[in-house]
Amino acid sequence: AQANIGVIGLAVMGSNLARNLASREGNTVAVYNRSAEKTHTLTSEHPEANFVASETIEDFAKSLQTPRTAIIMVKAGAGTDAVIDQLTKVFEPGDIIVDGGNALFTDTIRREKAVKETGIHFVGAGISGGEEGALKGPSIMPGGSAESYETLGPILSSIAAVAEGEPCVTHVGTDGAGHFVKMIHNGIEYADMQLIAEAYDLLRKVGGLEPAEIADVFTEWNQGELESYLIEITAEVLRQTDAKTGKPIVDIIVDEAGSKGTGVWTVQNALDLGVPVSGIAEAVFARSLSSHREQRDVSTNLPGPSNPWTVSEDDKKGFIEDVRLALYASKIVAYSQGFDAINAGAEKYDWNIDKGAISKIWRGGCIIRAQFLNRIADAYDEQPALEALLTAPYFTEALVRAQESWRRVVAGAAGAGIPAPAFSSSLSYYDGLRAERLPASLVQGQRDFFGAHTYKRVDTEGTFHTLWSGDRSEIEAVDTH
Ligand code: NDP
Repeated sequence: AQANIGVIGLAVMGSNLARNLASREGNTVAVYNRSAEKTHTLTSEHPEANFVASETIEDFAKSLQTPRTAIIMVKAGAGTDAVIDQLTKVFEPGDIIVDGGNALFTDTIRREKAVKETGIHFVGAGISGGEEGALKGPSIMPGGSAESYETLGPILSSIAAVAEGEPCVTHVGTDGAGHFVKMIHNGIEYADMQLIAEAYDLLRKVGGLEPAEIADVFTEWNQGELESYLIEITAEVLRQTDAKTGKPIVDIIVDEAGSKGTGVWTVQNALDLGVPVSGIAEAVFARSLSSHREQRDVSTNLPGPSNPWTVSEDDKKGFIEDVRLALYASKIVAYSQGFDAINAGAEKYDWNIDKGAISKIWRGGCIIRAQFLNRIADAYDEQPALEALLTAPYFTEALVRAQESWRRVVAGAAGAGIPAPAFSSSLSYYDGLRAERLPASLVQGQRDFFGAHTYKRVDTEGTFHTLWSGDRSEIEAVDTH
């Protein structure tokens, strides 16, 4: 046995992670892939790396020092189950199996429970940052037992991205907590991208700016509170011209956005948890709407408003600033909702999640890396039990500063018939939270009318029902909700 860590699954993610591991002082990396071809490719292309290659899972296990630690990077789903099955036959109690793929957290919970019975540790770890992250340093969100993190922590820290001197990895919580938080991260990423896209659309359609000019605006925004990887790459995409036509590439790319489904998981789970992640949901729905080509084709003649929204040269600067602030405010809402989902997940699945630590490990390696995450970390450091992120003083101040602009942008977009679903739903969410009274009282009245679902009174304890089909008097009722 020569290797201190192993990687199974040597497609692009696994190969890059194995190379990252091998590049760290003191590591010898056992590598194995179902089809030996990929293993040969990796070892022959990287003779400098400290790899020990195996062609069978038995040899792979033998090549690892005990207790063994192996990271699985195979196709999520049945592939992961197949590999776990093989590994549990050749590993021994005390060994650690890490699943670094994009598993659904409920699968991770199930797998951890099953593997634990063999005495082997199972850790589901969310790994963010795509191919480049895997090679140069990802953000890593491991779940599993605290005991396995004692062994795993130093290894993962050595390959993780580093942000402000700290490795972007923390023990998120037990069993599926890591994959859950990775899922929320992806949901937030969807919202972030959609909000930036809406800002672009308004700057173009209302502000009359060309893509290259908008790229300059984003580059400038990237110097301030919106500083982030996504803003930075947006500027690059907007600046790119198509080699074939000379037009901006953004005008050549078909306007249908795809997705791999992790944003959908976030929304599905938020629905189950009863958490209104409306910004994330709108981002997912906006992608689906864009892909419904047939519906869009038959809808282009639907009437729009008669008055377009344009801004004069004099007002352009103010308009751009309005859009920036609307983007920032909506982003605060999206993150606040994402952290609400983390809270709800933690409560339901009994995880103790340090939200400040989560925002810190997202500062490097992953797609949503941003300055902004430091402010979130500060907010949770100051108030670990913060009820809603947007009520932290820093964010409330930002919302106060942004709100007039935010309202002008959302109202203007509605008036001009420009879709801004994530901007508007975030503003509605904000107004919903701050409303002293919501029309939910009427909904509850309707529910009581047709289904005797009962209601509570503002002035008296207890549960009540009005005899709607009788004399309409009120009776005290058993709470049936
Ligand atoms: P793929 O998801 O394309 O999976 C291919 C790998 O899985 C190959 O090594 C393949 O082996 C192996 N595999 C598939 N089925 C089985 C099986 N039944 N038994 C054994 N091995 C199997 O590879 P990627 O590198 O793109 O992704 C790996 C993991 O990382 C996935 O879970 C993916 O979701 C996740 N990922 C994460 C990203 C991120 O940003 N965090 C980005 C991309 C992926 P073989 O060569 O023999 O076919």
